[in-house]
Amino acid sequence: MHFPMKKFFSYYKPYKKLFVMVLTCGLIVSATALVFPLLVRYITKDVLNGDLSTVLREVYGVGALMLGLVVIQNMGNYFVDYYGHQVGARMESDMRSELFAHMQKLSFSFFDKEKTGRLMSRITNDLLLLSELYHHGPEDYIKYLVRFTGAFVILYFINAPLTIAVFCFLPFLGVFALYFNKMLNKALRRNKERIGDVNAQVEDSLSGIRVVKSFANEHVEIAKFNRENNRFLDSRKKTYKAEAYFYNGAEAFLQLITITVIIFGSASIVGNTLDLADLITFLLYIGFMIEPIQKLTHMSTQFQEGITGFQRFMEIMNLKPDIENKPNAMTPQKVNGEIEFKQVSFRYEDHLENVLSNLSFRVQPGEYVALVGPSGAGKTTLCSLIPRFYDAIAGEVLLDGINVRDIDLQSLRNNIGVVQQDVYLFSGTAMENIRYGNPAASDDEVIAAAKHANAHDFIMGLPMGYHSEIGQRGVKLSGGQKQRLSIARVFLKNPPILILDEATSALDNESESIVKESLESLAKGRTTIVIAHRLSTIRNAQRIIVLTEDGIVEQGTHNALLARDGAYAYLYSKQFELQV
Ligand code: ADP
Ligand code: MG
Repeated sequence: MHFPMKKFFSYYKPYKKLFVMVLTCGLIVSATALVFPLLVRYITKDVLNGDLSTVLREVYGVGALMLGLVVIQNMGNYFVDYYGHQVGARMESDMRSELFAHMQKLSFSFFDKEKTGRLMSRITNDLLLLSELYHHGPEDYIKYLVRFTGAFVILYFINAPLTIAVFCFLPFLGVFALYFNKMLNKALRRNKERIGDVNAQVEDSLSGIRVVKSFANEHVEIAKFNRENNRFLDSRKKTYKAEAYFYNGAEAFLQLITITVIIFGSASIVGNTLDLADLITFLLYIGFMIEPIQKLTHMSTQFQEGITGFQRFMEIMNLKPDIENKPNAMTPQKVNGEIEFKQVSFRYEDHLENVLSNLSFRVQPGEYVALVGPSGAGKTTLCSLIPRFYDAIAGEVLLDGINVRDIDLQSLRNNIGVVQQDVYLFSGTAMENIRYGNPAASDDEVIAAAKHANAHDFIMGLPMGYHSEIGQRGVKLSGGQKQRLSIARVFLKNPPILILDEATSALDNESESIVKESLESLAKGRTTIVIAHRLSTIRNAQRIIVLTEDGIVEQGTHNALLARDGAYAYLYSKQFELQV
């Protein structure tokens, strides 16, 4: 994959000044560190060869200088630690917001494919690792670069041949590191996918915890979880193996370097080309290299993790929503609510067969139309083409004679209310959930909507009235109550077009009759398409459209269709008569 350098660095932009300051501090800290072995060398030489009467005074002077350097170093390190991390965290937070906002805009087809838990892991873990790279990367790079080149230059002036011998090891170390980097990169990518799977499993099992318990299938979920957890463990084992190879390989290089210095250094002392103070200086500077070399594994892990995190971030950021506004999308002033399908065909992504083929029909403004047909015939699919949850692959869906693709997406969806069988409520209060239909609505408007939806009385019966928390996904409410809240939400939205997709199917008879009442009052004056099983809902429809695998096979009123004795009459005898 081509690495998007420009994009990668663009996230530094808002924090450029602060980050340059952090790097400068890092530079100062490293430079002061380089001075220490030199001071030690100075004192050692003095002690070894100097005039003893002056040595003591100089030792105190050097000691004071060292103290000063320590103060500078620690202040610099404080700045690097505190502000460096802050820069990383702020960049991470920016990217997280951007990623979340982008995900919100992606289409249904994307969420049909992706597991929520995996997406969560991209938003949390991946970016956390990336922020580490964002600040530590340059900091460490500068720190170690200064140390290495500084040590090289100083040592070169002390004893060139020995220095060159020491630094000859480095290219080998480089090749060695490059080789293991590749291996690590692969291993770390796999880790990320696996932890994403663990997240997905947790999300799935916990969201469905009520089903799990009702089937007493805790052990099944535990087994599924453990499988994912073990896969993650296996993947990490492989990573650690690669890391252990790398770490100890690097360590071996370091030991080789130290042995070389001791042997050649001692030989040089005998040969009088080096003195003891120089040898000590060499060993001290090599001690300097221990940290960078040991950190090489850590740094390359960090680098790889950050880069894979960024690649995974970009994978999502590069996805375009399937369904987007056209540049010249129009916003209708007033929507009458006429809906027309013209030879519409549709199939889900990656599916071979069309769910809908060549469908044509028209619904007049304000008309109440029932859509019936066997399960799986495509009723829900058909309705999801109107608010453009998906786009038709052929033909046109028109609203007031305008192709829905030419209408501004937000305004299109603002004009359509959908009530489904499974209600989704957010955690929060009853008031907040109803207001979701129109965030600008006043408390009075919310209450009026609740009254229209027959929800006011039960809400007032809750411990805190409208300010009662309804639990995650509304678990503290009954099915009928949840449905009435969702209807109140649509009342508040007040759209001219209404889609009721088996809104009462999941309810018992008593809640159904209350919810039905709310729905009927909601449907007044709006173009309504109702998908229903129950005769009571269908019988009042001005027109019934019968949709089967063969498309629209019949249209007409209840009595007219019964008289025809066709598909509707058949469905009716199979499905509805028991419910009358
Ligand atoms: P109905 O509402 O009439 O019961 P649907 O419109 O829900 O039928 O489904 C029609 C067909 O499309 C079914 O075969 C179903 O399996 C398939 N289908 C529904 N939703 C999706 C989806 N998101 N992705 C792929 N196939 C789907
Ligand atoms: Mg359906």
